[in-house]
Amino acid sequence: MTNNDIKKLDHDYIAQTYGRFDLALSHGKGCDVWDFDGKQYLDFTSGIGVNSLGWADEDWLSAVVNQAGKLAHTSNLFFTEPSAQLAKTLVNTSGLKRVFFANSGAEANEGAIKTARKYSHDKYGKDRATVLSLVNSFHGRTISTLAATGQDVFHQHFFPFTQGFEHTPANDIQALEQRLKENDVCAIILEVVQGEGGVCALEADYMQAVQQLCQSQDIIFIIDEVQTGIGRTGSLFAYQQFGLQPDIITLAKGLGGGLPIGAFVLGEKVANTLGKSDHGSTFGANPVSCAAANAVLAKIDNHFLAEVSRKGEKLRQALADLPHVKSVSGLGLMLGIEFEENIKAADVVAKSIENGVLFLTAKTKLRLLPPLIISDEQIEHGISVLKSVLSKM
Ligand SMILES: *Cc1c(COP(=O)(O)O)cnc(C)c1O
Repeated sequence: MTNNDIKKLDHDYIAQTYGRFDLALSHGKGCDVWDFDGKQYLDFTSGIGVNSLGWADEDWLSAVVNQAGKLAHTSNLFFTEPSAQLAKTLVNTSGLKRVFFANSGAEANEGAIKTARKYSHDKYGKDRATVLSLVNSFHGRTISTLAATGQDVFHQHFFPFTQGFEHTPANDIQALEQRLKENDVCAIILEVVQGEGGVCALEADYMQAVQQLCQSQDIIFIIDEVQTGIGRTGSLFAYQQFGLQPDIITLAKGLGGGLPIGAFVLGEKVANTLGKSDHGSTFGANPVSCAAANAVLAKIDNHFLAEVSRKGEKLRQALADLPHVKSVSGLGLMLGIEFEENIKAADVVAKSIENGVLFLTAKTKLRLLPPLIISDEQIEHGISVLKSVLSKM
């Protein structure tokens, strides 16, 4: 098949919900990927923060193949080894207490929200079920996580959304204090770096103050680490760089290194809030996905994380010096570029594809989420292509 054959099938048979790049990918290795016409690309997208080890990492691949040959699926009526091991690793590395496995980021957030509501309901009864999230946040595409998502563009067409969700402005602790006076809030959810919102890092003082308010008013503090987690920002979880202790974290994207898996990790306060049959998922804790995640986590040690930070800093500095760049935001290998007004990020992405390098956008910014294993040479190549694209604009 050629790129065009595949495009035609997609156009005829797949629900047309995505604005795709004009290429069909065939196979990849590390940070390199080829399309169906044989052209090679260097990847700064990681499948939107998923392929943390790049494509076809050998240890990841053998873990997946091995597990698929033993047990691909069992249902949650049985104990399985990969999920038990993975939960232990997530608990030990986060300092939280228990894990529930789901299949995506939205599902992980749904579960976290259910947990917070049940905690509050058990302790305080009805009328304390409001979930606050931040303006400009992104938490998923289900009807409830869309309600949590603080961007109006997502609040069209699908009414009525789930009740009991409100948005408070990021980095404005007074607005939050004021809102909490109504005594109806059970949870606050935030991203340490708002990814889909344009790679906007929250202020450290603000997050500390949110945590303090949560602690003093027994509100469940949820950190959505779906995009920032699993080494992306230079620590295993982004909250660890800010001395935070959330009650729940949610994970997905980078966790499985390319296979679908989500998780929410519960701290002491809510470790036993969900009891038998309070929550479930047919595919959750899939042994192959969990084996993949175990292979990812086995690679992310302190040296690996220090490398993510170093490479992130190198990339950030080089990007700041490129033509037409107004500012660079983000943390670790999760970076966003704001251009001067006359430069459109989508045009820069399209031109870069022509030149064999893949980037993302986030709102009006160009977004970089390279595989965490990207080499210095590959970083330099990506920068040189971006430089030549920008100097012609
Ligand atoms: C991508 C993302 C989600 C949604 O994850 P899905 O796996 O697409 O459901 C939720 N929260 C954040 C912060 C994300 O970046």
